[in-house]
Amino acid sequence: MATPLLSIQEKRIILTRDKGILKYAAVTHGYWLRNDEAKEQVKEVVQRFQLQHIFRPFTRCSCCNGLLQQIESTLLQARLPIDTLLFFNVFKECKSCRKLYWQGSHYDHICEWIEDLKAN
Ligand SMILES: [Zn+2]
Repeated sequence: MATPLLSIQEKRIILTRDKGILKYAAVTHGYWLRNDEAKEQVKEVVQRFQLQHIFRPFTRCSCCNGLLQQIESTLLQARLPIDTLLFFNVFKECKSCRKLYWQGSHYDHICEWIEDLKAN
């Protein structure tokens, strides 16, 4: 098993289901996730570290964690289908990997999930 060097160097809290990682002497901050399912893990972490009031949804890329910035639809004509450009008004692009985001069919569902996380 490799030592989680990046997490140690950056003094991050290691979230893991692998208790072995937490036994390294170099790991000073770690948390063993009790749940197996991803959504339940998020809920568990939010509650454990009391993160309910510091959410900044839709500001980071879900692929690379890069910052998102708003981008004009006129700049996206070669990258998105015309129906998407006509139907939606707000577009964001990841500054790191250039992934595009808009308030599609999942948006309302994600907002409800975030509100539920904040309430618990
Ligand atoms: Zn990205």
